[in-house]
Amino acid sequence: MNHIPFNVPPYLGTEDKYIRQAIESRKICGDGAFTKKCNEKLEEITGSKKVLMTTSGTSALEMTAILCDIQPGDEVIMPSYTFVSTANAFVLRGATIVFVDVRPDTMNIDEKLIEDAITDKTKAIVPVHYAGVGCEMDTICDIAKRHGLAVVEDAAQGVMAFYKGRALGSIGDFGCFSFHETKNYSMGEGGAVLINHEDDVERAEIVREKGTNRSRFFRGQVDKYTWVDVGSSYLQSELNCAYLYGQIEDASIINNDRLRSWNRYCEALSPLQEKGVIELPYIPAECTHNAHMFYIKTKDLAERTALTKFLKEDGISAVFHYIPLHSSPAGQKFGRFHGEDKYTTAESDRLLRLPMYYGLTDSDIDIVVDRICRFYQ
Ligand SMILES: *Cc1c(COP(=O)(O)O)cnc(C)c1O
Repeated sequence: MNHIPFNVPPYLGTEDKYIRQAIESRKICGDGAFTKKCNEKLEEITGSKKVLMTTSGTSALEMTAILCDIQPGDEVIMPSYTFVSTANAFVLRGATIVFVDVRPDTMNIDEKLIEDAITDKTKAIVPVHYAGVGCEMDTICDIAKRHGLAVVEDAAQGVMAFYKGRALGSIGDFGCFSFHETKNYSMGEGGAVLINHEDDVERAEIVREKGTNRSRFFRGQVDKYTWVDVGSSYLQSELNCAYLYGQIEDASIINNDRLRSWNRYCEALSPLQEKGVIELPYIPAECTHNAHMFYIKTKDLAERTALTKFLKEDGISAVFHYIPLHSSPAGQKFGRFHGEDKYTTAESDRLLRLPMYYGLTDSDIDIVVDRICRFYQ
């Protein structure tokens, strides 16, 4: 029997050396040499004003909710088809979540439905770049500008992906990356927050440093450090940053490998799409994706369940995710769906993610494709 896992955490081999260097530097908490290298590398990749390493994508999102000054009763607009942290970060500040439907082609928030969901309580829009494919950011930023709203990009899946040549995460007011082991680049648990306006940088450093002005103190800008704002412990450790640095030092190594796998799946499965049996991902012309995910859409839930089982019987692990948040117990308590759920539930029921990770071999891809073709014979 085969053994093709759904995910293998990325590991290039340079991580060991860098972790050893971090240990030997006798500085293993946050903001040491490797944190700085990661910040600078990510600023270079994204063009963001300031990138700060955080303990997770979740904590990056939580920081942005504080930085947007979200208060109890405020409303935040986002898709329902996303990870819980996208919503939780704002619920923790007392916000009500207003979910709107996704586009069936990209599974991203339908930009045409956002404006109708805006009320006088709306404070922010949170587009989620699903599968590393950019949302329609020009439209979203234009709506936000006209209504005076903040834009927080959940780019957890979008490292090294672009919209009209601009890095995902660097387009709105704030962006959030995740370096969880299931993401393209990893440090085990970790993330980064992208601060895209100079004016927000100082407060972001304070929020990340437990609400103190410790960063300014270390730069010699104040003579003592003290509690100046709300905040929490969002600093990532040097050990994790050392692991990540090995992977982003030359981020194209992982990116090219994943794109090669993605293209191989796409080519091999396109006859099934042409026959109208399955649907393959769609990449809008404005978007350069990062092969975060390769998914197919089956006819319906029953067919997905049968195919998942058929793959599993041959040792192939394919998975689905995201029970739409508006149908979850917490989603019902903290949010509401605005408009009609035309696609969110129906499309999420059909989506199946195939094995995708750095180092996935051509022969394993061919085995997965053969098995899918056999299912449909
Ligand atoms: C992974 C992910 C997160 C959370 O990131 P963590 O690093 O696991 O906290 C948030 N949003 C989306 C869309 C994600 O895929």
